[in-house]
Amino acid sequence: MSYITPADVGVSDDRDAHLARDSAEPGTDYKTAYGTDLRAPGDGRVIGVDHSNDGPEGRRLTFLMDNGEVIDWIHLAEITVKVNTRIRAGQLGIALSGASGFGKDRHYAPHLHVTRRARIGLPYRTTLDFEHAIVRPSTASTPSPADPAATPKKKEYPDMFYAIVGEQDNAPWYLVIPQGNAKPRAVILGANAIKGGDAPVIEFKWDASIQGLKGAVDGIL
Ligand SMILES: [Zn+2]
Repeated sequence: MSYITPADVGVSDDRDAHLARDSAEPGTDYKTAYGTDLRAPGDGRVIGVDHSNDGPEGRRLTFLMDNGEVIDWIHLAEITVKVNTRIRAGQLGIALSGASGFGKDRHYAPHLHVTRRARIGLPYRTTLDFEHAIVRPSTASTPSPADPAATPKKKEYPDMFYAIVGEQDNAPWYLVIPQGNAKPRAVILGANAIKGGDAPVIEFKWDASIQGLKGAVDGIL
C-alpha cells in the first residue's frame, strides 16, 4: 500500500530532521495553511480522536490503515469524524489542519505533522517515514500498462526497490521494498501506481500467497 499526500504542499520538516532533534514522535511536517481540508492517506478507519488541544501534539486523529499500519495527524484545528468511521484514499471532510498544542489553537506555525507506524500498539517514538511511502501522480507520459518498464523514467523514489510481481486486471503489480529501514517492509502497489524508472526492477512469478511474497522478498534481500 502506498499513501496519498495530505495536501499539495511542501515538507517543512522531514522525519530525519525530527530524529535529529530527538522528537518524541518522528514524523513529517507539511506546510498546510490553517484550515486545510486534508486528504485521507489511504483506505482504513478511524481508531482514535482527541479533540483536546492540550499537550505537544494538540488535536490528534489516528487511523488504522487496511495494510495494518497506523497513521496519526496532529496539531489539527478541527476533527469531523468519529472512532470507527471508514475512510477511503483521498477522502476529504475528515479534519482541518491547524497549529494546536499546549492548550492553544495556534501554538505553532500552521502545519500538519503526520506520523506513520508499522502496526498498532507501537510506541509513538517508533515510526516509519510516511513521506517515503507517498506516490505522487507522474506528469510524464504514461507508458503502456502492458510493459511499464519499457520506457525509462526519471527515478522518483530512490529509497524504494521495485519488482514486478505479476498482473491483475491487465495491469502490472509491484513489490515495493523501502530501503534503509532496519526491518524493511514489502508492500504491493497496483496498476500504474508507480513508474519504475531506473530503480531496479526484477520480474517474479506472481504468487499471491504470503509464503510466495516472503520468498520473493527473501530472494531480493
Ligand atoms: Zn512535526
